[in-house]
Amino acid sequence: MVGAWLLLWGALALSCRGEVAFLRHADDSTGRCTYSFTVPSPVESGCPDAGGVPELRAELAALTARLSRLESRERGAGGEAGRGIPQPQYAAPAPRLEPGCGELLRANSRLEEEKGRLERENEELGRRLESSAQEIARLRAARCPPGGEGPGRDPLPAPGEAGCGELVWVGDPVVFGRAESIAGKYGVWMKDPEPLPPFTRETTWRVDAVGTEVRQLLQYQAPEQLAQGYPTKVHILPRPLESTGAVVYRGGFFFQPRRSRTVARYDLRGETLTAQREIPGAGYHGQYPYSWGGYTDIDLAVDETGLWVIYSTEKARGAIVLSKLDPETLEIRQSWETNIRKRGVANAFVICGTLYTVSSYSSPNATINFAYDTATGTSRALSVPFENRFRYLSMLDYNPAEQQLYAWDSSNMVTYPIRLSRD
Ligand code: CA
Repeated sequence: MVGAWLLLWGALALSCRGEVAFLRHADDSTGRCTYSFTVPSPVESGCPDAGGVPELRAELAALTARLSRLESRERGAGGEAGRGIPQPQYAAPAPRLEPGCGELLRANSRLEEEKGRLERENEELGRRLESSAQEIARLRAARCPPGGEGPGRDPLPAPGEAGCGELVWVGDPVVFGRAESIAGKYGVWMKDPEPLPPFTRETTWRVDAVGTEVRQLLQYQAPEQLAQGYPTKVHILPRPLESTGAVVYRGGFFFQPRRSRTVARYDLRGETLTAQREIPGAGYHGQYPYSWGGYTDIDLAVDETGLWVIYSTEKARGAIVLSKLDPETLEIRQSWETNIRKRGVANAFVICGTLYTVSSYSSPNATINFAYDTATGTSRALSVPFENRFRYLSMLDYNPAEQQLYAWDSSNMVTYPIRLSRD
């Protein structure tokens, strides 16, 4: 019984693309069965590790241990018949009509329930392992070309060295972590491109944004801690956050407090709100969201030139309005009214003073479909491919220090490499 579904699970894990996995079965000196699960290291030396793989292995090891324990219990419930003998079948011995029989049946029922739960867990782990295996293949292709010269062959420019230009290419998403619960179906994650001590460019920030009282801002020392699920600190925001348009910039966390057309600055060192300001006429709480909804009416952005807010107003009749903000006082320095309908696009970000929009939050074959240049006040259509790998993009922003995009796609925290044209 257990043996059959164990084999099924083993086959599932073995079928993962690009991976060779081993599920071993052995009996120890006391006659207990032991299962062990082995996956060879898929990451070549010099390659960046793929997020989540060590975590997956640990989960698989823990699951394997539980399977061994479960089998021991089942043997215990089924009598001592198999002790000392490798036993591929687990049919219970002929029932004896004794007072302990009811207890055995109940124990068996509990084991059946546990089995069902573990089977569901196995399926989920199998899916995640496959996703990680694909990620490793992509990382190898992108960063470790044949010849094994490692990151030195990276076709992308070093962070901050490329200067400004127009967005011409967005690469495949790279997964850094996955939210553990439904509260992280959508959310926000990022690093500060211009951090203030004690924070660094590696300090990583995250908000799980499902719910009406979203106040927790998680701080991680580096993305690795995020992948492992170990925050350094949990900040509690004085006001709940509503939109996934929050950003971190120059030591401040900028966000839209719930049910308001306000933008607020939470100081990450002082742990207090240092500025709050209304964005005149800005729609909020579902008036002018992006196409996926989610109260994404007010979206903040950071680029090489500073802090921006992306929204719409009745006066603009739903078209995107872009304003440059003072990062200390949140005063509007200048505004631009575009001809891009806010509800018609999935998200937006700013690079070098140009606003870019994404065509769809769910299509795997989406595009960066419009660019609005604040220097000329004109927009143009684009068709730069953009992949929504997990089909539910709830946040997308640009990090000018790393020249890559940060996104939250159906519980997954991902980044996208980009390329800018040289002027
Ligand atoms: Ca955005």
